Amino acid sequence: MKIAIIGIGSVGSAVATAVKNTGFVHEMVLFDRDGVRARAAAEDLGHAASFGFDVKITAVSSYRGIKGSDIVIISAGANQKIGETRTDLLNKNVEVIKDIIPKVMANVDIKRVKIIMVTNPLDVLVMLAQRISKLPSGKVIGTGTMLDSARLRTILSRQLSVSTKSICGNVLGEHGDSSVIDWSSINIDGIKLDDFCKQIKISLPMTTKNTICHRVHNAAYEIIQGRGATWDGIGAAVSDLLRCIINDEKRVLTVSCVSGIGNDTVAMSLPRIVGKDGVIITLKPKLSSIESNALRKSAKIIRKNYNLINN
Ligand code: NAD
Repeated sequence: MKIAIIGIGSVGSAVATAVKNTGFVHEMVLFDRDGVRARAAAEDLGHAASFGFDVKITAVSSYRGIKGSDIVIISAGANQKIGETRTDLLNKNVEVIKDIIPKVMANVDIKRVKIIMVTNPLDVLVMLAQRISKLPSGKVIGTGTMLDSARLRTILSRQLSVSTKSICGNVLGEHGDSSVIDWSSINIDGIKLDDFCKQIKISLPMTTKNTICHRVHNAAYEIIQGRGATWDGIGAAVSDLLRCIINDEKRVLTVSCVSGIGNDTVAMSLPRIVGKDGVIITLKPKLSSIESNALRKSAKIIRKNYNLINN
């Protein structure tokens, strides 16, 4: 299994580290327009790999080096600075994706390749990458709200004193400020959230739920405030998605890809079954009317931003 990572900044390096530590990739090639940075990262990661699984890690100086890749991960582009939203990155990163995708497509086997998108604003750039690449929509997959869902589960785990592994709870919609918590479906190993709270004698009133929602929306901003960028969480999310594809696990993940939403077709996160061919099926969660309206609003925001880049 050969994978290529395009963009070896904080996120690309964290992705490479997380993937290297899983042992299911035998070759990783790194490309960045800053070749010195990519070569330095490949050296450092190569040294680290000698303590773990055998994986060949090389920096490539042209897109020809990604030939033979099964999966290409795009983590290139500007990141949020303090006070910036993901949408503020739109104009800069549209140009980055327009630069990268044709070069990727000219050097991969279009029947075999899958693209994992990480660059923000994620959903709009998934739509753009899918359009430029002309790949089937299920093969251009954004990490979407996998990270937001992990943040939700972490907060709930602390609140309820139960392992994140027992919490089934998703964030849907935009990977951004309009994302929606699917409270209706949250359960703890099959026990509905409210029942579980009753049984363990914890109260989770609406005010607490609103605070949790705010913390999920604000998580990236807080991390950026404290460390300048976010990388470990997304590194682990990409590695988890990659494992699901490589091993054909057919797990349900909240990833983003272009699909029909109401009367429109946009990329946003919904629970989707993911396997070796990418997204296989998109599921329809049973939402409350408030959640459904919020999800429609989220889709409209993505559509509006996508239309902006096409004018
Ligand atoms: P960074 O500035 O540390 O690294 C970006 C890298 O991209 C740099 O090394 C730069 O040289 C490279 N690059 C820029 N344009 C390029 C091009 N045209 N071709 C090749 N390489 C190019 O930024 P980062 O912190 O690693 O963030 C990267 C992206 O990931 C940002 O858009 C950020 O918002 C996004 N991100 C997404 C998630 C998510 O959940 N989807 C989470 C965290 C960060």
